[in-house]
Amino acid sequence: MAVKKNTFHIVSLGCAKNSVDADSMAQLLINAGYDLVIDPRRACVIIVNTCGFIGPAKEESFDALAEMAANKKSGQVLIAAGCLTQRYGGEVTRRVAGIDDILGTRRWMDIVDVVESRCGAGHSESRYQLSGATAVGSDEHGASRVSVEGASAYLKIADGCRRSCAFCIIPSIKGPAVSRPMESILAEACSLQDMGVREIILIAQNTTDYGYDLGLKNGLAHLLTKMTDAVPRIDWIRVLYAYPSGVTNELIEVMATHKQLVHYLDLPLQHAHPLTLRRMHRPSNVDWVRKTLGKMRKAMPDLALRTTFIVGYPGETEEEFQTLLDFVEEIRFDKVGAFKFSFEPGTASEKLGDPIPDELKEERMKRLMEKQQAISLERNRRFVGRTLDVLIEGAGDDMSIGRSYRDAPKIDGLVLVKGQIPAGQLVPVRIENAMVYDLSGAAAEFEPNGLRV
Ligand code: SF4
Repeated sequence: MAVKKNTFHIVSLGCAKNSVDADSMAQLLINAGYDLVIDPRRACVIIVNTCGFIGPAKEESFDALAEMAANKKSGQVLIAAGCLTQRYGGEVTRRVAGIDDILGTRRWMDIVDVVESRCGAGHSESRYQLSGATAVGSDEHGASRVSVEGASAYLKIADGCRRSCAFCIIPSIKGPAVSRPMESILAEACSLQDMGVREIILIAQNTTDYGYDLGLKNGLAHLLTKMTDAVPRIDWIRVLYAYPSGVTNELIEVMATHKQLVHYLDLPLQHAHPLTLRRMHRPSNVDWVRKTLGKMRKAMPDLALRTTFIVGYPGETEEEFQTLLDFVEEIRFDKVGAFKFSFEPGTASEKLGDPIPDELKEERMKRLMEKQQAISLERNRRFVGRTLDVLIEGAGDDMSIGRSYRDAPKIDGLVLVKGQIPAGQLVPVRIENAMVYDLSGAAAEFEPNGLRV
């Protein structure tokens, strides 16, 4: 298979924020006259947009680079971009032979220069050097910061993080929080509406810090209010990656009073024992968290709450872990994601080492998820007999799959709907059955053949 001139193939690993960077890089290359090809064997430039967050994700990135390098043909150029590269710089090329150049996540917008310097007429020797950027650039060269998947789109509102959670390497990869101008975000939301997108998912390392660096107070609440005015035809606006102390009364009120803002919040808490939270350099006033969750549920009784916990953090005693289990039992979250602590050099927790044996981390992870599975089933069962709007994302033989307002893409459950319904439809579904993570039912207005009655 011949390599086609001025073509590129891009792979994105890790989180939705990385997919947005990959789509923005692709847009800049297309604007510069390069064609995107699906088959890496045909591409003259192969870009791997890596993830450098924790152990398993880093290994996946190194493996993807090694695979591309091993299959690389003469005339092809391999570029390692993204967070792993930002974190380790030229070291990545020492671990994986065959990488032609590197580009850190802070300067994703330089992709055309890097490609040109590799493929362009006057291409020069590999530098394997990162720019000295201290933060993610705001010179976006007109690239939109979105990633569209079917009828849904991720929209990045900021990058970087001003927090200092001890286990987290992101601030040292991405640098400080850089909020995007509100007018750019609103303009992109309008373009998504014109494209027929039905759900906009706002993302950042920490969405509730939006506007802090712009001098805005309650920037996210302000942005959401403006967005509901700007895009009245968008059905759902969803917020991921909130930070506890960023959940203000203003944000709760805005979410409760605007129909398009889905009553769903992804609020990673990481733990529930004050001592563990203090060692994590995280807000440790658990009573405040309780009160705030209570306020949210009072304002939005149908609120779907998602959180994330880390088990096996250095120093986590059985008593601390039991406090976490009791908290989960008490709060009864709709969705819980859990991670085993991953020892990460370069983080503030590095000095604490990794004293908790992996078997004990596994055992605690199992106990936590078993408890949550029972709670998740109980919370799902409340919807049997009720009707939920479901955004259809695909269909099989005689079944369609979709999500309700309670489910973010990829990380939460699904709704299985009888019949074949076109993707992109938002249909009322009468829920007939509840499972641990998913629901199933029949669309009120559709015959099994997918036609509207
Ligand atoms: S808020 Fe999130 S991205 Fe920022 S340091 Fe904490 S865990 Fe990392």
